[in-house]
Amino acid sequence: MLETTCSKILFALETDKKMTKTPIADQKYAPLEKEIRDSFQTRKRVFIGLITGSSILICCFLVLLWVIPFVGLTTIHPTAPWILGLFTIALVLIIGWAALALVLNILLGRSVLMAKRIRGLTIKLFLPLMTLLGRLIGISKQTVQASFIKVNNELVKGEGHRYPPHKILLLMPHCIQNSRCQYRLTYDIDNCKRCGLCSLAGLLDLRDKYGINLAIATGGTIARRIVVQHRPKLIIAVACERDLASGIQDTYPIPVYGILNSRPFGPCLDTTLSLKQVEWAIGEFST
Ligand code: SF4
Repeated sequence: MLETTCSKILFALETDKKMTKTPIADQKYAPLEKEIRDSFQTRKRVFIGLITGSSILICCFLVLLWVIPFVGLTTIHPTAPWILGLFTIALVLIIGWAALALVLNILLGRSVLMAKRIRGLTIKLFLPLMTLLGRLIGISKQTVQASFIKVNNELVKGEGHRYPPHKILLLMPHCIQNSRCQYRLTYDIDNCKRCGLCSLAGLLDLRDKYGINLAIATGGTIARRIVVQHRPKLIIAVACERDLASGIQDTYPIPVYGILNSRPFGPCLDTTLSLKQVEWAIGEFST
């Protein structure tokens, strides 16, 4: 019965999505949007499973916290167990609301249940718990992080904001630069000669075309400094699962749309990216 109802809701949502025209309904992006949607469908299941499991664990822990000292508390004051009980129930309700709002956010693709702060809760509370739970049940940290990045992207999109191009920062990892390139770009990205040996030539073209900011970070500290200098309203970041997940956490409350890089030569060496995906994200968020 529940399954049938859920199927109907999901079918209705899918139909609704198909009838809604995206702001950049350019035909050339249709396959890319489908690819992004399909990938999101798979990863959101992992995320929903982990978020539900984490919430149940927290709630059980809180209930235990109340039950165990229940007998002993009466010796302090007859009403003490009930006060602690009410406090516990309030916490359980808050966590339950947060988890429900988050799941609805993911399913509906927009903010619900006054869930403006849901992205913060996901980043600060649920991600560490989900990583822990994932480890306990044998889901790799990388899978949890990839799932978190996808869901974070949907939450950022779900907020429905658009930003002036000069308030958007495109943040790249240093490994995107060809390892044999002799030019130093960390302090001046325009030192790039756009020879086309790596993705930076295409990224500079996108920067010039849309008027956004582009920077390369050689690590977390430099990335933070770049963010402080540019004061962006939105960051489109390209990196691996680990760097993106920690970057999203570090820069909160600034929204970060994360794009995973490709690593054909292993981690941190001559990595590549999909310029189409970057351009799609720029179109999705710029005014
Ligand atoms: S495009 Fe060419 S010049 Fe620019 S960073 Fe890549 S390899 Fe160096």
